Amino acid sequence: MKRRIGFTIVYFLIAIALILFINNLVSAPKHTEIKYSEFKVLLGEGLINNLNITKAIIHGELTDNAHKRLFELREIENEKEFKRLQEFNIFRVVRMEDPNLVRELGERNIRYSVTQEVTWIKTLFPVLLTILIIVVFWSYIFRRMGASSEGMMAIGRSKAKIYVEGETKVAFDDVAGVDEAKEELKEVIEFLRNPQKFQMLGGKIPKGILLVGPPGTGKTLLARAVAGEAKVPFLSLSGSAFVEMFVGVGAARVRDLFSQAEKSAPCIIFIDEIDALGKARGISPVTGIDEREQTLTQLLSEMDGFDTKKGVIIMAATNRPEILDPALLRAGRFDRHILVDRPDLKGREDIFRVHIKKVRCSPDIDIKVLASMTSGMVGADLANIVNEAALLAVRRNKEIVEMADFEEAIERVIAGLEKKSRVINKREKEIIAYHECGHAIVANMLPRTDKVRRVSIIPRGIAALGYTVQLPTEERYLLTRSELLDRITVMLGGRAAEEVIFNEVSTGAKNDLDRATDIARSMVTSYGMSEKLGPLSFDRGRPLFLEVPWSAPKEYSEDTSRKIDEEVRTIVSDAYEKARTILTEKLEKLKMIASILLDKEVIEGDELKKLLGQ
Ligand code: ADP
Ligand code: MG
Ligand code: ZN
Repeated sequence: MKRRIGFTIVYFLIAIALILFINNLVSAPKHTEIKYSEFKVLLGEGLINNLNITKAIIHGELTDNAHKRLFELREIENEKEFKRLQEFNIFRVVRMEDPNLVRELGERNIRYSVTQEVTWIKTLFPVLLTILIIVVFWSYIFRRMGASSEGMMAIGRSKAKIYVEGETKVAFDDVAGVDEAKEELKEVIEFLRNPQKFQMLGGKIPKGILLVGPPGTGKTLLARAVAGEAKVPFLSLSGSAFVEMFVGVGAARVRDLFSQAEKSAPCIIFIDEIDALGKARGISPVTGIDEREQTLTQLLSEMDGFDTKKGVIIMAATNRPEILDPALLRAGRFDRHILVDRPDLKGREDIFRVHIKKVRCSPDIDIKVLASMTSGMVGADLANIVNEAALLAVRRNKEIVEMADFEEAIERVIAGLEKKSRVINKREKEIIAYHECGHAIVANMLPRTDKVRRVSIIPRGIAALGYTVQLPTEERYLLTRSELLDRITVMLGGRAAEEVIFNEVSTGAKNDLDRATDIARSMVTSYGMSEKLGPLSFDRGRPLFLEVPWSAPKEYSEDTSRKIDEEVRTIVSDAYEKARTILTEKLEKLKMIASILLDKEVIEGDELKKLLGQ
């Protein structure tokens, strides 16, 4: 933006200079300006001739002597001035009311003519020229704006921004490491290939599919691959393209997009980075909310009115599903969510294979090693590494890319990512592995906890370094005291494992501690689950989240407050002791499972059970 402003100013200055120059050219004197008194003298002495008289001005020829006479009249001694005077043989004088002029001219026998002067051309010409230049200048600027972004010329014409690809030429094989997502999308491809058949069989196909995952994991690529596999047109648009500075433009775009899709069905509509458009309404009351709301409403109504039977699938991608407007996620809209997660070890191997195919590599490349060196990276990072390695090889005048090039490329990419703090060093990885194993083992050893579905040390999001997914066995609305206690124990299992193994704890357990403490406090203050305090509720009437906690009125004494704190502490530290006991008993298992996790990065629930001998 800054550059464009600079640009505009330069052009503006050039235009002004041009105008001044032309103005100068037009009005540049081609005659000597004389005073009326001088004119009268020259006339009286017969030194002028061939006059042209108009209503306001008299032009005429000066004889040689006239110059000299003028020289005298003006008492000029300067040689230069004299030269300048002599430059023109034509004089110009502003006419005055002079009734004797015609008689005098007759007496002197001076030839003269009278013209009805058309002055407007002369006065208007610079103005017209200026307008012309401004028009040319503006249209040029607009054309530039139109070329780079959406200019004013393109209001409501969304075709410029919708990318329609007849065939994306991307195959499923080009996307690796996201097998689960691919599996889920196969059905969609089947449908797009033959919508009629699907209808006859009565198959129900989702209208909207939301791809969710961190940046660079291949969401856009995956959407294009679906179109490529189904061999249908791919209409894509970025969510930010909907959000325009003019009210109503976004909504017009949406309408346009859907009518275009209807024409080219079966096809895929893909809205990339839908969070730009679908931010929950009311989050930012300052900017553009009306416009976004209008656009969003239009999108929702188009989606509702759209019949999947026509063979149009609407896909969208986001890396921030939590900020999306809930209306977008409701049934009949983007109700199918597909997770496109960071790849695990095996996934990274596959992705490397896809990209390495495109460069000439030495046969000694060990993809397994490369994959193990790139923990936590996403597909885009890996593609970047392959590219970087190829560039390094070229720079070294090599014919083929060797392992050394890859290693250096990985180092470079890691250095870049470290600035964004997404890469974890070896020691940290070890701590995370033990921490997650702690959660998982404690969860598996306690009877009343949700089953562990997966343990992973692949970083997810910004905050979580690793994660343990527990799957509730059934939908729960009520939890008993012992279930809550078990839950707290599992949460503390991570920290307990760190302490058991390293005799030291890290900062990684903050979130766990927060949640455990929250549950414990609720047990005491809301659910009446503490024996010491009895079945009393201490948080009645406290408006949750609305007020800062310390300003909330307390309905109990300082003494009770202290007792509550004590009870919370007892609950948490008892649970912690329990977790530690479990892990100390299972120390060998903990070590074994952690080392497997370090190796494979992911352990599925069933495997964990087997390893624990259950
Ligand atoms: P996202 O849309 O999730 O941010 P992209 O689809 O734009 O990610 O990925 C950018 C590039 O990274 C792709 O063009 C591709 O070269 C590479 N890439 C990302 N993920 C994968 C993957 N799973 N398999 C192969 N290549 C990938
Ligand atoms: Mg993308
Ligand atoms: Zn944890």
